[in-house]
Amino acid sequence: MKKKLVTDQAIDRRLRTLSWIVFAVLALATGYTVFEAISPTGIVSRALIYGPGLALLWVLALLVFEVFFSRRAWCRYACPIGLTYGVVGILSPLRIKYTLDSCFHEGDCRKVCLVPHVLDTVIKGRAVDTEVPIKPDCTRCGLCVDTCPTRSLTFDVKGFSKLL
Ligand code: SF4
Ligand code: SF4
Repeated sequence: MKKKLVTDQAIDRRLRTLSWIVFAVLALATGYTVFEAISPTGIVSRALIYGPGLALLWVLALLVFEVFFSRRAWCRYACPIGLTYGVVGILSPLRIKYTLDSCFHEGDCRKVCLVPHVLDTVIKGRAVDTEVPIKPDCTRCGLCVDTCPTRSLTFDVKGFSKLL
């Protein structure tokens, strides 16, 4: 069988927790946000303001890795900001709620979501209840709510009725 050139490999998500701890320890030990030095967004921002440097090669390498091996790998498995937002997401009263009964399971929501692992629950047989709150990594962007043809995904406030 012909091997695909472009794949989307899943990597162990615990890597993100490990990366968060490593960057936190490095920041405490050095008094410097080491993460910012290798963050692609930081590098590109600095390149735009101060001019390009060798660090852009790192961004290029990341880009090649993400295109050919694992999509959005930096955000999913390495960026400590994502995990920090996830913790904020646990505390946030606003969330997305999934209702199993009306779902077609065709997966349109997962195609538009930038963190599709949070919507694993819409895959047939995965939902643990008839109503499931979407995981804290969800950014509440609302793309899935707009896309869902059956309103199986809605905004919700913890402890209150549906907003939309
Ligand atoms: S609100 Fe946005 S991030 Fe959250 S599940 Fe929907 S599409 Fe994904
Ligand atoms: S878009 Fe709506 S109906 Fe389709 S899989 Fe997602 S939740 Fe279910």
